[in-house]
Amino acid sequence: MTKSSRKCLYCQSENNPSKNKANNDLCNNCGMTLPKKHPKDKHSKLSFFIKAFWIIVMFCVFMVLYLPR
Ligand SMILES: [Zn+2]
Repeated sequence: MTKSSRKCLYCQSENNPSKNKANNDLCNNCGMTLPKKHPKDKHSKLSFFIKAFWIIVMFCVFMVLYLPR
């Protein structure tokens, strides 16, 4: 799935924002607003997990160095 094409949640039709720059956020077929990120997009969930993971790692390293042994 490329970034340029977004799938409509209501009619499942692919929308290409570059084709109609006037209404990027509206579906070409049914006219409903398109989602900014697709809910089934696994990349957004994975990037959130990586961010949370690194925050937890930094917290653990900080606590290991900061707290007395
Ligand atoms: Zn649609």
